[in-house]
Amino acid sequence: MSDTYLNYIAGEWLPSNSNETLVSHNPANTKEIVGYIQKSTKADVEKSVESAKKALNSWKRTSSVVRGELLRKAADLLEEKIEEIAKTATLEMGKTLVETKGEVIRGGAILRYYAQEGLRKVGDTIPSTDSRNLLYTTRVPIGVVGVITPWNFPIAIPIWKMAPALVYGNTVIIKPASETAITAIKIMEVFAEAGFPPGVVNIVTGSGSEVGNSLVENRNVNAITFTGSNEVGKHIATTCIQRGAKYQLEMGGKNPVIVLNDADLDLASKLTVSGAMKHTGQKCTATSRVYIHEDIYHDFKEKVIKEVSNIKVGPGVAEDTFMGPLSSKSQLETVLHFIKKGKEEGATLTFGGNTLTDEEFKDGYFIQPTVFEDVENSMAIAQEEIFGPVLCLIKVANLDEAIELANDNAFGLCASIFTRNLGYAFTFVNEIDAGLIKVNGESAGVEYQAPFGGMKASSSHSREQGEAAKEFFTSIKTITITPS
Ligand code: NAD
Repeated sequence: MSDTYLNYIAGEWLPSNSNETLVSHNPANTKEIVGYIQKSTKADVEKSVESAKKALNSWKRTSSVVRGELLRKAADLLEEKIEEIAKTATLEMGKTLVETKGEVIRGGAILRYYAQEGLRKVGDTIPSTDSRNLLYTTRVPIGVVGVITPWNFPIAIPIWKMAPALVYGNTVIIKPASETAITAIKIMEVFAEAGFPPGVVNIVTGSGSEVGNSLVENRNVNAITFTGSNEVGKHIATTCIQRGAKYQLEMGGKNPVIVLNDADLDLASKLTVSGAMKHTGQKCTATSRVYIHEDIYHDFKEKVIKEVSNIKVGPGVAEDTFMGPLSSKSQLETVLHFIKKGKEEGATLTFGGNTLTDEEFKDGYFIQPTVFEDVENSMAIAQEEIFGPVLCLIKVANLDEAIELANDNAFGLCASIFTRNLGYAFTFVNEIDAGLIKVNGESAGVEYQAPFGGMKASSSHSREQGEAAKEFFTSIKTITITPS
């Protein structure tokens, strides 16, 4: 590969005015260069915002049915390019090909879902106290939308933000994470080829501090939709509040699983381990803590260790790999920091904990799947988002204790319980602090047509995907018409 990729602004592929690029390395083999992206500047962002603003009026006036047709075309093109896009994502950030292909398939499904949205209703009629009046609502686009995305779902997240933004009549500038900017550019190629008018979709690559921040601060950007870390999310919220822009944040998680003494332990151990270790634990929805009923603690732990021992670590492009490398050096350093901290705080390292140093792994960010026992709920490894393949096992006496400990955390993205008792399942559903809940299922993974988002520090409390996306990407107008 090692091509140089350009920004897409006002329907043209352009270099940054900085004349500088950033390099993208393969985290499975850092000697391999995947390509170069533009190291854009504030001036590039301003140009892209100008182009999105200029395109807005005519895009707003375009029928939503026509806008939907373009999304359908994009879905076809995306699916045709599944091999190329999935491989690029795997090379850029290490996720297995099975998973990146799954993301492309999901991306296609999301585009088709929102294509249909162009045909659905956008308002209501409401009875008026004056029977002559027509009192009704309609929805209008918010305007120019800045889309800021992380590296861990480099295909699905950009699409699940851009597709609703576009069908509801907004114009878009995307600033993807630099780690996966080439994947985002390949998605933009799909939108360009589908025939979206110049300026309706734009991409500007570069650092979060310069490019991302310039987008957030630009007074002509009417809304920011962001997925990423809590630290950056807080900064975006503060800036948007100050200048009156709409914002939406989906951020971190520290997702608990509860395993009760009536659970199917084979199912529970299998789905707990895949929830924790798939994509090397780098999902906001990954399982991170397990609260296990003391009666079955030993049996469940043995099954978890057996599952973990069978995990095949390797490059994401290899067919038999279950767990690829971590996505970057800083990711590896963070995960190792937490493993060290867990040991220092007195947890027992039961499995893994080390980087892989064999010849085939030495130039990548590979680490073993890791399991800790004797974890106190107050320890950093039980409280903070690690974003790596590290699972904490915690023994509990009953469901009440499990829920209390699970809720004793700043985050509230997703949670899961394994039990055959319907009463316990409903208690869990009612009492757990999480936006996404599973009963006898893996913590990660929600269907694209359903709302997605967290409670507490995991979110700004709006929801993405499905019908819920309409709330963010449109504004309601209430109209009263009185015949004169
Ligand atoms: P990050 O916050 O470092 O970066 C996310 C994006 O923000 C990137 O495009 C980055 O360049 C940009 N950015 C950085 N500084 C910025 C600034 N000052 N102004 C504007 N933009 C800026 O996050 P990451 O490391 O890419 O992703 C990992 C995080 O994302 C984890 O915390 C994970 O839980 C979270 N995540 C959440 C969800 C969810 O839906 N809840 C999904 C995936 C990932």
